[in-house]
Amino acid sequence: MPEQRLVLASNNAGKIRELSELLAPLHFQIEAQGSLGVPEAEEPAVTFVENALIKARNAASHTGLPALADDSGLAVDALSGSPGVRSARYAGDNATDADNVRHLLEAMADIPDAERTAQFHCVLVYLRHAQDPTPLICHGVWAGRILTETRGEGGFGYDPVFWVPERGCSAAELARSEKSRISHRGKALEGLLASLRDRTAP
Ligand code: IMP
Repeated sequence: MPEQRLVLASNNAGKIRELSELLAPLHFQIEAQGSLGVPEAEEPAVTFVENALIKARNAASHTGLPALADDSGLAVDALSGSPGVRSARYAGDNATDADNVRHLLEAMADIPDAERTAQFHCVLVYLRHAQDPTPLICHGVWAGRILTETRGEGGFGYDPVFWVPERGCSAAELARSEKSRISHRGKALEGLLASLRDRTAP
């Protein structure tokens, strides 16, 4: 079966590698949007799903190819869902992961243990073309709690303060393969693969 080119609305090398491996059995050949001259889309919306749609549509309309985009972040219940779509920039436009974590711990300093529930969210959107009226939208959720101090050295972003109740450790203490299996991103990818298989089945 010939390979179907697919533009990924990201230039993140890790995401490109991970998705290329996962989508190879479905005969998709992933290409980063940067290598096709696609300018980065603005992400003006307040929901993950809107931002993922905007990014996928931008990549599809610039290339004429099917497009895949993701948007992800952390939603803390006691903060009405913040940092949300601003997760990467929570402590400012050029914030590092450490800055964002510190900002989160400060914002939650007075919040008692019982109210420190939170979820990581990942939305993946697949568009067959820029005008596709039926995008595939897969939403993975990973529920946990926000710790009062960091634990563990692995992962990235908010992993050191995200307590994983089903494993009894922080996300930064999980092996990479284990995190991929149970995380918001892993769940969204699993859903996307199943939906793509359904859609491409005769
Ligand atoms: P992006 O969608 O990959 O750009 O991620 C947005 C931001 O959400 C990241 O910069 C992190 O701050 C946060 N985030 C998303 N996924 C994770 C995760 O698996 N662990 C920790 N932080 C995450």
